[in-house]
Amino acid sequence: MGEIRLSVVAPCYNEEAVLRDFHRRMSAACLAACGDSHEIVLVDDGSSDRTWPLIEELADADPHIVGVRLFRNHGHQLAVTAGLSIAKGSRVLLIDADLQDPPELLPQMMQIMDGGADVVYGQRASRSGETAFKLATASLFYRMLNRLSAVPIPRDTGDFRLMNRTVVDILRGMPEQHRFIRGMVSWIGGRQVAMPYAREPRFAGTTKYPLRKMVSFATDALTSFSTVPLQLAVWLGLMSAVFAFLILTYAVVQWMLGNVVPGWASSLVAISFFSGVQLVVMGVFGEYLGRVVQEVKRRPLFTIAAIRQAGVSTPLPADYYKMGAAEQGALLDTQLRKASC
Ligand code: UDP
Ligand code: MG
Repeated sequence: MGEIRLSVVAPCYNEEAVLRDFHRRMSAACLAACGDSHEIVLVDDGSSDRTWPLIEELADADPHIVGVRLFRNHGHQLAVTAGLSIAKGSRVLLIDADLQDPPELLPQMMQIMDGGADVVYGQRASRSGETAFKLATASLFYRMLNRLSAVPIPRDTGDFRLMNRTVVDILRGMPEQHRFIRGMVSWIGGRQVAMPYAREPRFAGTTKYPLRKMVSFATDALTSFSTVPLQLAVWLGLMSAVFAFLILTYAVVQWMLGNVVPGWASSLVAISFFSGVQLVVMGVFGEYLGRVVQEVKRRPLFTIAAIRQAGVSTPLPADYYKMGAAEQGALLDTQLRKASC
């Protein structure tokens, strides 16, 4: 078919309840926006339900679908990264499979991009079906992130966005393991235009972001976009030095007045205060150090088990994981995707 004008990349983790509806609504939106020249890349992020068989079924019936199965659950951001490595379109839409981001907004986003934008990102004007806790923590998080980060990262955004090929290629060239995609796209710059929209409640199924994952996602974002917490040590150290000086003055004055009380209470306070400060600072160092350790390993970001397209399932060749990143990319481009719709 030649050039594909639009690729849609949707990560799917245990989404059997929504996939059919997602496919129906997304296909209609793609047809409306750019006709036949599109593909929908569905990335199965190691689901344990019937998500993959369902993707295979959809891919067999609809040549626009490219199913990608990861070996295991890599998490939302890496599933998206895997999809981006396969997407061929001259524009790429990132969208959640749970229909919280309405596919029907696609034509409008394409129009904004026709006007010269490099990135059109959805900005949530309202969010129904989210708990007050999630809204409050999200708002606090973005405020903190923007204080600490040198790159302005727009608030109330997710990964719902349309990007042009240049931006996608730059993003693909960013090698980090701990990925905060919306921040990385902000870092790329160019003309980024916000499109306000009403975020829907999840169509079916449950959220895959429990509190634990949210905290680790937020820590990834902070550590990838700011080293200010590392400098926290300096401030805490200065503050405790002032505190220690006050205690010292107090102790000397008491000594001069002849009040040589044992003073175990104040020592105890000082010791516990300072060891607390030290542990906090060491913990912050540890967060960064742990990430450095993971980055220097340079493991592959994701592991693909199979690609399904137009009724054909292509397993990766046995030596795929022995190749370098560039070779892997070339292979994905030529051999595995030659059956392009
Ligand atoms: N997701 C994924 N891998 C994961 C967790 C989530 O691919 O480990 C996908 C999920 O299927 C959905 C999107 O990422 O399409 C967003 O997840 P979810 O809707 O659960 O997050 P929330 O909207 O509640 O923040
Ligand atoms: Mg969701």
